[in-house]
Amino acid sequence: MNLFPLTDWLRLLYPQGCAACGAPGGEALCAECRAQVEVRPAEGCCAICGKTLIDRDAALGTASSVCRHCREERPAFDLARSAALLRGPMRKLVHGLKYRRETWLAPVLGEWMHGCFLAHYAAERPDAVVPIPLHPFKRLRRGFNQAELLARDLSRRLGVPCEPRLLSRVRDTATQTKKDRDARRRNMAGAFAVPRAREPYAFGRRILLVDDVMTTGATFAAAASALRAAGAVRILCLSAARD
Ligand SMILES: [Zn+2]
Ligand SMILES: [Zn+2]
Repeated sequence: MNLFPLTDWLRLLYPQGCAACGAPGGEALCAECRAQVEVRPAEGCCAICGKTLIDRDAALGTASSVCRHCREERPAFDLARSAALLRGPMRKLVHGLKYRRETWLAPVLGEWMHGCFLAHYAAERPDAVVPIPLHPFKRLRRGFNQAELLARDLSRRLGVPCEPRLLSRVRDTATQTKKDRDARRRNMAGAFAVPRAREPYAFGRRILLVDDVMTTGATFAAAASALRAAGAVRILCLSAARD
């Protein structure tokens, strides 16, 4: 476990300024970059998955604020929300954490995610914060799981325990980036499980699932169905960004 490597200490000694643009200053994200982060408003979003409702959904004339996908098939999770869109400074932060091992960015993203939790989930009382696990080989290769770093940061902010071993990835999945919605769902089905010894920790509990990026929600839905099968009663999903 190397959650606070040497580079992080160096950064404390020699602050680099804004995490997204490098502008000097004491803030993790400068005022200009902060203003560019596209936070999703509560209005005009699907009440279940948080996706922006497009005109086609509105044109159906239903009074419901639930998107077409969630109406056709309700996802295994109860609710999903994202702190911001995966654009501009937010894309830089997420990619820095995931691909450039800039683990010091986790609390910067965690702050935005905490804000999103307070805006959308203030009435919720999760029992555990659970990161979307990486396959063990991928975890080994990357050296850390970015979702786990975010979950640990949120867990501290919320005062709710982080339980990274509640879910395990039982199947490695092909990369999702070029897949459409149905292909993503097929790709993720059965990818997660709650280990038998951990089932009592899922039964009857309210879980906050955490990931760095949400695209169609297929990953969250697959993880949520494993938790449901183990008896979890409420499953909220929260990602730093939405693609
Ligand atoms: Zn900046
Ligand atoms: Zn939806």
